[in-house]
Amino acid sequence: MGKEGEHNVEITEVRVKLTEANKNRLQAFCSITINNDFVVRDLKVIEGQKGVFVAMPSRKLTDRCTKCGGKNNIRACYCSECGAKLDEKRGLKGEESIPGKIKLYADTAHPINSKCREYIQQRVLTAFKEELHKSAQPGYKSPKMPDDTDFDERYVGEGKEQRFGEGIFT
Ligand SMILES: [Zn+2]
Repeated sequence: MGKEGEHNVEITEVRVKLTEANKNRLQAFCSITINNDFVVRDLKVIEGQKGVFVAMPSRKLTDRCTKCGGKNNIRACYCSECGAKLDEKRGLKGEESIPGKIKLYADTAHPINSKCREYIQQRVLTAFKEELHKSAQPGYKSPKMPDDTDFDERYVGEGKEQRFGEGIFT
């Protein structure tokens, strides 16, 4: 462990791509570079009820059809492979499930302690605020970001699925 105030994880770069202001709960996409060596992208700045927070990159959860083994979205009612009726409550079972709530996403990279979580959050939100400030200046150009990221429709208005770089970001 490092000394007080030091971090084993050192974020050496934060890139922030702002979304179109205030249309969505999703305020920005971010990527972070750790120790000059490792990039984690697809972090998100989300407008929550108590202000903005940072969401870790996540993937949509799927499970397999009991009849044919085909992969389906956890919320799907019918198998996309064989058309079998699926148990709609299957997402409520399992170790990770919260009672009464279907867990649709799982983080793919995340801190495992609150100190690291706070550190990442603070670095990302600081960069986010700086980017907001910059974006108010004339001639602002948003930074280059990876362009093949799956868009997470959970943070867009009516559940419309869009991919990074399509429409709202250009
Ligand atoms: Zn099936």
